Amino acid sequence: MAFCKKCGSELEEGQQVCGNCGTSVSSTSVQSTSSGVNDNGGFGWGLLGFCFPIVGLILYLVWRQDKPNNAKAAGIGAIIGFVLGLLSSFSQLGAM
Ligand SMILES: [Zn+2]
Repeated sequence: MAFCKKCGSELEEGQQVCGNCGTSVSSTSVQSTSSGVNDNGGFGWGLLGFCFPIVGLILYLVWRQDKPNNAKAAGIGAIIGFVLGLLSSFSQLGAM
């Protein structure tokens, strides 16, 4: 339930202008979901970077400015995936 910031009267869902005082009330529904990706730094981005370090690195570079949390998650996942990949290749070399 939303309320007018100016007069405090109740607003209906999706209402753009307060029916009581006429103030524009579009702030409550404004979220950065227009791009389709939230900057929540989700675990999924880290997992993606972990499985595909190159993709994680690209996402990190692309999102560094716009979505720092996602960029960080993808970048960390990419680094971990990259290091583990190196270690596993080294261990395979050592076994041979
Ligand atoms: Zn109002």
